[in-house]
Amino acid sequence: MYALDALGLHWDAEVVYQRQHLEYYEAAFMQLINNNVVYRCTCSRNNSEALICPGSCREKIVSDVMPYAWRVKTDQRTISFYDEGHGLIQHTLDTQYGDFIIKRKERLFAYQLAIVLDNYLQGVTYVMCDCDVINSMPNKFIYNHF
Ligand SMILES: [Zn+2]
Repeated sequence: MYALDALGLHWDAEVVYQRQHLEYYEAAFMQLINNNVVYRCTCSRNNSEALICPGSCREKIVSDVMPYAWRVKTDQRTISFYDEGHGLIQHTLDTQYGDFIIKRKERLFAYQLAIVLDNYLQGVTYVMCDCDVINSMPNKFIYNHF
């Protein structure tokens, strides 16, 4: 924040930290569990982060003893939105991204869940972002489950 301030970039509302939203993340996460949208995954980072996750843990029974992450079950639906700079953006999550992590083995909520809740809780209706984020489609998928 000091760097932003030094660059003359100032915020027009109270600064909100993600730690202030933890109870909302947890409630949303529990809703995803209750809706059977997520599952436990024991894959290591080496074989789960580099490639599209094939969902091989979907049917596994994972005990509480082993460390596990939580993944969202993606499907063949096409998710789309209109971007003022790039036009209509469409993605099919299961083939382009695979089942993505929503809660890490370290029990930290992943960006994909946090950004959805942060935007909702702050009333964000318009997002300006760089091109690398425009393809971050998994979080748009989560919107469909609340
Ligand atoms: Zn797995």
